[in-house]
Order: sequence, then C-alpha cells, then structure tokens
Amino acid sequence: MDFTIEKYNQLLQQLKDSRYQFITFKEYCEGVRPQRFVILRHDVDLKPKNSFAVAEDEKEFGAKASYYFRAVPESWDDSIILAIHQLGHEVGYHYESLTTCNGDMQKAFDDFKKNLERLRKLVPVSTICMHGSPRSPYDSKDIWILYDYKTQCIIGEPYLSTDFSKVLYLTDTGRRWDGYKVSVRDKIEDYQEIWNAKGWSFHSTDDILRALQENRLPDQLMITTNPQRWTNSRIEWLKESVLQNSVNIVKRVVVALSE
Ligand SMILES: [Zn+2]
Repeated sequence: MDFTIEKYNQLLQQLKDSRYQFITFKEYCEGVRPQRFVILRHDVDLKPKNSFAVAEDEKEFGAKASYYFRAVPESWDDSIILAIHQLGHEVGYHYESLTTCNGDMQKAFDDFKKNLERLRKLVPVSTICMHGSPRSPYDSKDIWILYDYKTQCIIGEPYLSTDFSKVLYLTDTGRRWDGYKVSVRDKIEDYQEIWNAKGWSFHSTDDILRALQENRLPDQLMITTNPQRWTNSRIEWLKESVLQNSVNIVKRVVVALSE
C-alpha cells in the first residue's frame, strides 16, 4: 500500500541510506548546501494532528523538515505548531491571502501581515509558502508582484526562492508523485519537461525508492507532502487491520473450539 506512514518511513530511511542530509527550507535560503541534501516540505492543509505524527517520526529518524500552516481552523492549532517547533522542525506560514481576499492586493497584504504576526507570537517564522487553492481564480503568489515579503523579514518562498535548475521538486499532490499533470499550481512548469526527459517523473513511492537505490536522483531534492493524505491512509489501514485482527481472533476461537 502506498501513502501510508510505513511507506513514508521507508522513504526517510532510503534517503538516509542514500546519504541525503535533511535541511530545512530556511537553512536552504540561508545558503546551507551539503553535498547531498533533501528539503522535506509539508503543507499542513488540514488535520494538523497527522502532521504532528509525521514530525515525531522524522525526529526519530534524525530528520528535520519544514511545516507550513494555513491561517484557518482546519490547519492552525497552537499546541501542535509549538510542539512541531519544539521537535526541531521549521514552521512557516502557508499563505492564501489573495484567494481569501478575492484578489484585492492591499487587503491581501494586510491579511498576510496580520496572520504572520499571529504565527510569530508562537514560533519564529522565516519562510512562507503558497497554498495552491485549485478552485480559486487567484494565484496567491501574485501578491509578490506588488509587494515584497522581504520587508516582513521573510527570507524565502519555495516556488520563488528555489534554484530548480539544481533542485528536483517532487510533490504528492493528487496523492501521486506525477500529479503535475493534473495540479493547478503545485508544479514547476519551467523544469518539469527537463525532469521528465531525465527520467525523474515517478508515480508511486516505490518508484522513488527504486530510483534512490539505483542512485538515479540528483544531489539536491525538495520533497513536498501533505501529511493528511499519508496518515489518512494509515487510519484506514489501521481500521482494516483491527477488523482483520478481530476476524482472525474469531477464526482462532472457532479453530480452538473445534479442536
Ligand atoms: Zn496547501
């Protein structure tokens, strides 16, 4: 089964075995460049508890990641934001102000600043990342045509500050690794064809694991996941497992009684 916590842990283990160092997006923006590295980015679109579970797993693997929270109740949870920060991960703001403000640039920038300030009351914030809002006609990144996030002491935005001529971008958008075919905004259009030509397009996590084992991936990676997808599968998986276990217990009882 793909997109389970177990599969994610396999990915972490393989990245470690393939000698990728885990760096946060903040560190990347500060110029940290180990010979081989991976930036683990997590967009906390909803279900923050699931992100916390992933954050704990990463901590056990000695991995650091960057978690981006939206300023909406289904993502934002004070205690989880604090806990993820305390585990040693980076916390950033997953902004969507231009969308929620219906394209009004000034309102959007005010909203952005207000939410950023609120997040900074909890944890230090150095980077931000756009929430894609596929159903919205507005691209929240467009706010930076008029304004500059650097005036807010923000040092980077993954879509705008990453050198994709060196960093391969992989995202689980659409709960598959080749979702760039269907994604509205979570994709790097300028480079995707080049990556495809190099054989760096993958469908399943196993495809990525194989490529890592065969040393076919570049030295610089950004891997984005939406933890609610992965953990959801695990809950389903657990439900199924509990069900199967009880079925097995019943079977065992039946077997015992008939002996
Ligand atoms: Zn998002």
